[in-house]
Amino acid sequence: TLPEAQAIWMDGELVPWREAQVHVLTHGLHYGTGVLEGTRVYPTAAGPAAFRLDEHLRRLERSARMVRIHLTHDRDTLSRASLDLVRENGHQACYVRHLVYLGYGVMGLDTRRAPVRTTIATWEWGSYLGDEAPTHGIRLMTSSWRRNDPNVVPTAAKASGPYLNSVLAKREAVDAGFDEALLLSRDGYVAECSAENIFVVRDGVLHTPPSSAGALEGITAGSVCVLARDLGMRLEVRNLLRSDIYGADEVFVCGTAAGVVPVQSLDHREIGAPGPVAKQLGDLFRAITVGEEPRYQHWLTPVG
Ligand code: PMP
Repeated sequence: TLPEAQAIWMDGELVPWREAQVHVLTHGLHYGTGVLEGTRVYPTAAGPAAFRLDEHLRRLERSARMVRIHLTHDRDTLSRASLDLVRENGHQACYVRHLVYLGYGVMGLDTRRAPVRTTIATWEWGSYLGDEAPTHGIRLMTSSWRRNDPNVVPTAAKASGPYLNSVLAKREAVDAGFDEALLLSRDGYVAECSAENIFVVRDGVLHTPPSSAGALEGITAGSVCVLARDLGMRLEVRNLLRSDIYGADEVFVCGTAAGVVPVQSLDHREIGAPGPVAKQLGDLFRAITVGEEPRYQHWLTPVG
């Protein structure tokens, strides 16, 4: 169960958590017609701060354009509303969920006249893959489900409907006793996990799949790429096979909910204890999020 906060922002109104309800004939509930974002607020010495909020809201705008949902609030409004809500709910650290969905009033698949609804919710959310994950690493399973194909749905959009793909893969993996699922593209290349992007380290070089494999353009992954370059590491964006993961020196996954998390094994092939590259990038990422790295201060927006 979710740890309740005080209020949820619904199209400009602050609604008490338990009253933030929708009609059962909400379009998005039936057809997955929505776009969403997940942003984290971290505790810093100067108070809570949102990590790359503007990047998340820009991705929300791109997602909306891709699935033809016309946003009714601009980025500035959403940014201010998000920070105000975090303050109002009194969080020192939390997850912020933006959701723009088609509401009640139209059924069927022609969405031209469907009303657009915007909500922002916050809650306190611990480590998504478990408290042990950053130190012990996670166990992955190759999913029997392929990652959404970019010509079936726009995989670069963080849209509600396509999440059924991630939900199926995650459920299969946890039912089989693994922590997380690895999804392959239709062509059989590594795409990503159900809610994280993936990186492989081999002979000191970082490798990550191209967006053509169907992965979401993760903001954490984008940040990790910046850090890798700033640390002078070599990074190659290229197609990866599952054997590249079985044979890697190190593997790690990253996402807003999960953080930067090493991979212990894939399909029972042991990759080993968390390695130095994942540790260095993970430690730097965590230090940045809590405001301990002045060089990356511009990635944080104070809640105020
Ligand atoms: N892939 C998928 C399918 C996801 O749901 C997420 C989480 N948004 C990610 C990757 C990681 O993206 P981000 O770093 O922006 O959270």
